[in-house]
Amino acid sequence: MLLHHRILHPRLFLPFVSFSAAPSRSLRSDHPLLLHASGRRNPVSLLARSHSLSTVAQLAVSAPLEVDAPILRQIADEEDGGPQVQIPLDKLFVPPGVDLAEAASMASGRVLRGSNIVLGPYARDAQVATAEFIKSSTKTEECPTDGLPEFALVGRSNVGKSSLLNSLVRRKRLALTSKKPGKTQCINHFRINDSWYLVDLPGYGYAAAPQEARANWYEFTKNYFLNRGSLVSVFLLIDASIPAKKIDLEYASWLGQNQIPMTLLFTKCDKRKKKKNGGKRPEENVEDFQKLIREYFKEAPPWIMTSSVTNQGREEILLHMAQLRNYWLKH
Ligand code: GDP
Repeated sequence: MLLHHRILHPRLFLPFVSFSAAPSRSLRSDHPLLLHASGRRNPVSLLARSHSLSTVAQLAVSAPLEVDAPILRQIADEEDGGPQVQIPLDKLFVPPGVDLAEAASMASGRVLRGSNIVLGPYARDAQVATAEFIKSSTKTEECPTDGLPEFALVGRSNVGKSSLLNSLVRRKRLALTSKKPGKTQCINHFRINDSWYLVDLPGYGYAAAPQEARANWYEFTKNYFLNRGSLVSVFLLIDASIPAKKIDLEYASWLGQNQIPMTLLFTKCDKRKKKKNGGKRPEENVEDFQKLIREYFKEAPPWIMTSSVTNQGREEILLHMAQLRNYWLKH
């Protein structure tokens, strides 16, 4: 059963959390935040507290305060380079098994750095110990039948999918498997730790591919999304170094309209040159993309900023996958 059937999102609105968008050794602290949970009379205010060595920003209870928060706002540059951004709480992704209001009142809610994802109790066994290529399938029916949970990576050609897969499993040759002739149009299954799958789907939007081939790829990936019972979440890769592309917006909105659980992985977040790339920074492109797809989603989809050059987002992706997977296995 797909995960979205099992997720209960508490309706929260208002405040924002603050975190560093880039890997940081010493995160700054003390940005006052506000949580106004529906059904509560008194708004609960939160304080985002970051600390060294941690990959998360901590939320803690503080004095009440009411603000109209921006969606995602860059507020300051960190000493070691990464800008800080703020997210209103209604734009956070609360994973299944977590009640954000409760977590906040217990001063234990945490948000994964460079993402909108709240870290919950199911985030364990996140590391990749073993990874092996299992098979290439041309149809959903040919995919492995052992029922292990899986995450599918998909994105426009050249978005950085192979690089990200390499970085996740830390094995260059493995991801190259999907690029071998004959396998680029297949559903490629990689088994991780003998207990779950990373699935590499064909890149879309490859201009040189014949129209007919492109149409077929769409059909078979759509069939896979709609019918693969062990698919926990699609990971849609979006290049954050350039403005949103129509084809990516269409892909994301299709997933939203069909209620396929989706995580946005913004790639190439290390590319910070403003004048090139349409004049926008990765953070701005991330914000724009979300605004453009908002109407297609009931709840804010989870997103993570990544770079295969700096390894930004690697731990966060693995923790996010772990908490979705462990919840899925238990329910
Ligand atoms: P794929 O076609 O989606 O598998 O994309 P690739 O992984 O082959 O990457 C396409 C191009 O983008 C290559 O030139 C990569 O070196 C480059 N690239 C991939 N990821 C990153 C990244 O995180 N940062 C930067 N700066 N370049 C990247």
